[in-house]
Amino acid sequence: MLVSYRFERSRRKSIGFLVGADGLVVRSPNWVPLREVDAAVQEKGAWIVAKLQQLRERQTEQFQKAIEWEHGAEIPFLGRMVQLCVLERGVGRVLGQDVPPDQILPVTVPPGATVTQIRDAAQVWLKNQAKPLFEQRLHHFAPLLGVSWKKLSLSSASTRWGSARTDGHIRLNWRLIHLPISQIDYVVVHELAHLREMNHSPRFWETVGEVMPDYEQRRKALRQAPLDLPQD
Ligand SMILES: [Zn+2]
Repeated sequence: MLVSYRFERSRRKSIGFLVGADGLVVRSPNWVPLREVDAAVQEKGAWIVAKLQQLRERQTEQFQKAIEWEHGAEIPFLGRMVQLCVLERGVGRVLGQDVPPDQILPVTVPPGATVTQIRDAAQVWLKNQAKPLFEQRLHHFAPLLGVSWKKLSLSSASTRWGSARTDGHIRLNWRLIHLPISQIDYVVVHELAHLREMNHSPRFWETVGEVMPDYEQRRKALRQAPLDLPQD
């Protein structure tokens, strides 16, 4: 199994492993050579794979719960859960003091707003987060694939995560913002790779694999994401 990870040098005394919403993070002291880090990752392999699997199952469970769009609701955001905080205009309800700001999804609505109004306001917030993040990921991967894209649109199609046109126009489903960045990146790379290969031929998958050797894992994880949207 191929697993990608983020590697960080730190002041710690030994090599550390962390499995979270973003996948695996490996931290190592400055003086440990990379081949020793590699060996440590291999040695810890079974544990890492089991942890990743557990995390994926937990996320699937969380996503399967229908969201109740009201104050305090838990909303999946980048693979974690954030708390919906509803402020009625002019009323100024105080935010939960024990919730860190980066774990809050804030919306402001008119007094007595309906569930639909709250949902719409929350979705506006989510789309506002999605656009710049998706653009940043496109800017990151396009040069690695040697392609250039012209325009990004957010879609809300219920049947696909994304699409690409030969003229460089990419569409990405804004609901991807609920998922971990590793799965968003897979869709970004998939659509950018279509600018080189407008099909799903073996050459297309080679292209994807060039910049994302573990794309199979990410593709599988995306298929388990219960938004019921096929990627292809
Ligand atoms: Zn495709």
